[in-house]
Amino acid sequence: MAWTSILHRVLSSNEIFRLSVADCIELYNEAPLHQLMEAAHHRRLQHNPNNEVTYLVDRNINYTNVCTINCQFCSFYRPPGHEETYTQSYEEIHSRIEELEAIGGSRILMQGGVNPSLDFDWYLNLITELRAEHPTIDLDCFSPIEIEGIAEVTELTTQEVLSQLKDAGMHGLPGGGAEMLVETVRKDVSPKKGHPDNWLRVMKEAQLLGLTTSATNVIGFGETNSDRVQHLHRIREQQDEILSKGLIGFTSFIAWPVQLETNTFGKRNKGQNRFERGAGSTEYLRHVAISRLFLDNVPHIQASWPTMGMGIAQMALLAGADDAGSTMMEENVVSASGTTKFSATEYELQLSIRRSGFVPFRRDSDYNRLETPSALDDAPEAACQPPSQTVELV
Ligand code: SF4
Repeated sequence: MAWTSILHRVLSSNEIFRLSVADCIELYNEAPLHQLMEAAHHRRLQHNPNNEVTYLVDRNINYTNVCTINCQFCSFYRPPGHEETYTQSYEEIHSRIEELEAIGGSRILMQGGVNPSLDFDWYLNLITELRAEHPTIDLDCFSPIEIEGIAEVTELTTQEVLSQLKDAGMHGLPGGGAEMLVETVRKDVSPKKGHPDNWLRVMKEAQLLGLTTSATNVIGFGETNSDRVQHLHRIREQQDEILSKGLIGFTSFIAWPVQLETNTFGKRNKGQNRFERGAGSTEYLRHVAISRLFLDNVPHIQASWPTMGMGIAQMALLAGADDAGSTMMEENVVSASGTTKFSATEYELQLSIRRSGFVPFRRDSDYNRLETPSALDDAPEAACQPPSQTVELV
C-alpha cells in the first residue's frame, strides 16, 4: 500500500489497526516526517487519551563498570583487572537510594557490566537488604545480559536466577541491552551478547514470572530501515504471545540513537565499520513516530531527553511518545559516550511537559499514577502555557 493510503487509514480510523511489516517499511522509507508525527500523535491519543504525559522520579545506579562483553559502542565498561574498574559497596548503593527517598522517588534502575567476580549471593543479599531497608522503592535491576552473566557464574538457568531474585524482592528488569535485535547488526556491534533471541528469552522468562519489563532500541549502527522494523516486529511478536497469556509484557518502548561523541567504536572495530554511524534528531523523531504506529500492543512510548536533549524530547511528545522518562539523578553508561545531561529535576520534567502542551503526571514503574506535586508553583507564568502561546521550546 502506498504511504499516503496507509496514513489516511490511520488518521481516519477510530480504532487501532495493525500495520504490516511491509506497510511500516513503506512509511519509514517514504512518508514525510510531519505527516508521520501527525499520524503517530493520533495513534498515541487512541492508546493514551487525554492531554497528559507521565514521568517517573527515580535514580539510575550503575553498580559496577567491570564487564567482559566488550560492546563496540560502549565507553562505560572496563575489563576485569583494569585500573579504572569499580564496584559499589552495599553502603554506597544504600546511600544513593536514601538520596532518592529524600526527593520522593519510587524506583531505582540498577544496571552495570557483566562482572564475573560477583557471585550470586552478592546479588541476592543486595536485593534482600534493599527490599528490607527501602520498602517503598521498586527495584528494577539487572538487564538480560547481566542475568545471563549471573547464570553463567552460578551454573543456574536464567529462569532460576530471575525466580530467586524475584523472591528476594526484585520488582523488574531494565530494558537495556536490546540495542538492535537483528543478528547481522548484533554480531558486528555486540558479538558476545549472542543472538537476539537471548535478550527476548530472558525478558519472556521475566514477564512470565510477573516482573516489570520495558523494551529498548538503539539506532544508528548503519542498519537499514527494514532492520529497524525487524527489531520492532520481534518485540511486537513477543508481546502478542505474552498478552495472550493474560500477562502484561513490556510496559513501554524507548529508543535513542547510539552515542558516539567520545566513543572509541571505530578504533576498536579496527576501521572495518560498514556503517555510516549515528542518527540525528529528525531520524530519531521518525523512529519514535514509526514505533508508536507499529507497536500497537505496547501501551507506552517514552521520549529520551538524556540522549536527545529536552527540546527534541518535547518534539517526541508530539510524535507518539506519552511519557517523558525519569529524573535518573545519575547515568554513567550512555553518558560515557558523550551525552552531557544525565539528571533532571521533577521541576524540569514538569516544565518540559507543560511547554509541549501537556499536563504532567507522576507515575511509578508500572505506570500507575501517583500523587503529583506542583513542582511548577514557583515557575514563571509563561512556563505553564500550552504551545499555542508564545513559549520557547527549550
Ligand atoms: S553495553 Fe553493557 S554489556 Fe556491553 S560492554 Fe557496556 S556494560 Fe558491558
